[in-house]
Amino acid sequence: LRTPPTPEIEAYITGLFAREDDILRQIREQSAEQGLPQIAVSPEEGAFLALLVRLCKARRILEIGTLAGYSAIWMARALPADGYLVTIEKSSVHAEVARRNFALAGLEGKIRLLVGQASLMLKKAAALAPYHLIFMDADKEGYPQYYEWALKHLPSGGVIAAHNALWGGSVAGEASSPIIEAVRSFNRMVAQDERVTAHLYPAGDGTLIAVKK
Ligand code: SAM
Repeated sequence: LRTPPTPEIEAYITGLFAREDDILRQIREQSAEQGLPQIAVSPEEGAFLALLVRLCKARRILEIGTLAGYSAIWMARALPADGYLVTIEKSSVHAEVARRNFALAGLEGKIRLLVGQASLMLKKAAALAPYHLIFMDADKEGYPQYYEWALKHLPSGGVIAAHNALWGGSVAGEASSPIIEAVRSFNRMVAQDERVTAHLYPAGDGTLIAVKK
C-alpha cells in the first residue's frame, strides 16, 4: 500500500500525535496577529522534532532560525531536566516575540536566544558545543555553511535536521529559481556525503535528516 499525504491524513496524525496545548496554540495564532510570517513548522513537524530530541537523547540542541519560538518550544519541552537549547535569530523583532513566548512557556531558563546573523552567532554558539541535535530552519543559501559547522560541533551519532528540504515540492519538478537550486544542491550534497547516514523525511515541507557517523 502507498498512502499519498493529504490534508485529511495530516489532520488524522496531528489529532493523535501532535496535539498543541493552549500555549502552543496561542503562540501560533498570535504570531499571525503580530504580523509575523506564517512559516513556522506545523504541529506535526513540531511533534516529529520532539521525537528526534528523544531518539538521539539530546541534552544540547542548536536551532538556526527562531521566528516566534514555536519549533524551539516543541524541542525544548522534550529535553531532560539538565538540557538546554540555543537558538539563533537575525531579526530583533522576531527575537523579541520569541523571548516573550519562551517566558510564557516557562522555558526562559532552558533556552538561550542569540540575536544576529547566523554566520556571526555560530561563533558564540561554539562556546556551548557540542550539540546532539542541530535544527536548521533559516536562509536556505546558508545551509551548506551551517552543515559544515554542524559536523564539527556534533559527536558521532549527533543529528542534523534541515527544514524545507522539499521547498513546496518544487525540488522534484522542472521549476528553477535560485532558492530551488540552493535546496536541490544541498539535498544532493548531503545524499552523497560519506560522513553521514541521511534521509529525507517528507512530512510537512520535508526535513532532511543526517546522522554523523
Ligand atoms: N523554526 C521556526 C519555527 O518553526 O517556529 C521558523 C523559522 S523561520 C522559517 C526562519 C527564521 O530564520 C526567520 O525568523 C528569519 O528571520 C530567520 N533567519 C533567516 N536568515 C537568517 C540568518 N542568516 N541568520 C539568522 N536568522 C535568520
